[in-house]
Amino acid sequence: MPALQGVSRVIVVVLDGLRPDAIVRFALPHLGELLDTTAHTLAGRTVQPSTTASALTSLFTGVAPSIHGIRDEHGFLPSLGKRLTLLPKVLAAHQLPMRGYMRSLPFGFRTIGSTIAARLGVRARFAGHDAAGILEAARRDLATTRRGVLYLHWPDADIAGHAHGWMSSGYARATERIDQAVGHLVGETGVLDDPTSAIVFLADHGGGGAVLNDHDSAHPHDLTIPIVIGGGRVVPGRLPSGSSPLDVCATIPWMLGVAPPPAWQGRPLREAFAAAPPATPRTLEVAA
Ligand SMILES: [Zn+2]
Repeated sequence: MPALQGVSRVIVVVLDGLRPDAIVRFALPHLGELLDTTAHTLAGRTVQPSTTASALTSLFTGVAPSIHGIRDEHGFLPSLGKRLTLLPKVLAAHQLPMRGYMRSLPFGFRTIGSTIAARLGVRARFAGHDAAGILEAARRDLATTRRGVLYLHWPDADIAGHAHGWMSSGYARATERIDQAVGHLVGETGVLDDPTSAIVFLADHGGGGAVLNDHDSAHPHDLTIPIVIGGGRVVPGRLPSGSSPLDVCATIPWMLGVAPPPAWQGRPLREAFAAAPPATPRTLEVAA
């Protein structure tokens, strides 16, 4: 199946450490509503090891940690792009810019953060400390950018999970703040009704599996992630369980009309855009 045509803007939001069962357990209104209006799975599966560095490197390179070699934040190699096909470079070859909005870095890390982002091919802005602040930093670009990828990374759930334990009351409050920001982002951009846009929410890992306040294990609570795809051309329904950040990586250029490189290991989540089934034949209605 050829790449999708007609979508020119994709918003990607990583909800760091958001467990999919939190959406129902804490009755999060905006994320809960998205389950009716998007294509999604609450049984996605991240890569192993289930660390942010591994998962995001897979999201940006299309290959598993066994190939990219990044297992934690100490292993980041700016030379990654010499042997792997980076998502931002694939997009740039088709005049699709990628911009990133991430938590502000402590003084002294800003230069290295921007340098790594630049080598990945992302124009990055490090501003804000939480979902609301990072959304604020991206707001103007969200309103004016019609082409390319806008990437937002919201750290709230992961920070609360490490501090208080996954699914604790402190974690619940963090997920409520994330949910508010989801509501603002979806409402302000009108992305769900825009046939030229798509939005992807996913987590990089869960947490509280093997250890209450960590997420690096093969426990299902650590590996299971939500993946949500919305947009004016999206058909609401289920995405395959077991879908991964590798599949999201392949889906991003595919939605923008660009075939993913053959070396990438995921497959585009085409189900999100499958044609609606034909209407029930009239004869059956009569028979019923
Ligand atoms: Zn973490």
